[in-house]
Amino acid sequence: MTYTIAPPAISSLPIIGSDQRFPIRRVFCIGRNYAEHAREMGASVDKSAPMFFCKPADAVVSDGADVPYPSATNDLHHEVEMVVALGSGGHDLTPEQAAALVWGYGVGLDLTRRDLQAQAKAKGHPWDVAKAFDHSAPVSALRRAADVTLDAHSVLRLSVNGELRQQTTLGEMVHGVPQIIAALSTLFELKGGDLIFTGTPAGVAALQRGDRFHAELLGVAELDGRIG
Ligand code: MN
Repeated sequence: MTYTIAPPAISSLPIIGSDQRFPIRRVFCIGRNYAEHAREMGASVDKSAPMFFCKPADAVVSDGADVPYPSATNDLHHEVEMVVALGSGGHDLTPEQAAALVWGYGVGLDLTRRDLQAQAKAKGHPWDVAKAFDHSAPVSALRRAADVTLDAHSVLRLSVNGELRQQTTLGEMVHGVPQIIAALSTLFELKGGDLIFTGTPAGVAALQRGDRFHAELLGVAELDGRIG
């Protein structure tokens, strides 16, 4: 079998302590998963109904790479988030079944054209142009779940040009990782290669051309980059 044009490349991420790479199928994101961030956006958390959106797999940018300042915005925002990588999939999972799908963890930025998101919210339009643009998902190298100990005290943080912008502990998440995966699995059949951005804490703000960012899931993964 041959294709009429060259098939698109498979997006992938490096793995800490391995020469292999993790292939990316889909990128799912949860919105409003930290109450303080929901408040700063003028929204509230609906615990019974987690809110999801997606980014394309080829929006992922690897650690250390420049992120071009996107077109069509004057308000590019950072949202630091823990990223979960699934090693296998399923649908209609219990939280216990969902937890067993986790292959590894990383840290990423859910970059957002905040001005276009505000317009979309006002008009009742979808969020794609605000969230799913090219290079909108810088993600660190992944660490295998078997090598990770996370708990409610684990620290997630972001600094820009050496200044701390966002910091939280994972205990502040409204929906935990098994609950997020289980909820997603009622909406989509999940598969190995899926990444999940698990929401951002308070402190989101604008990035400018030339800014250098450093994101950490403390003791697990680090992400560095520069807005080009
Ligand atoms: Mn986000």
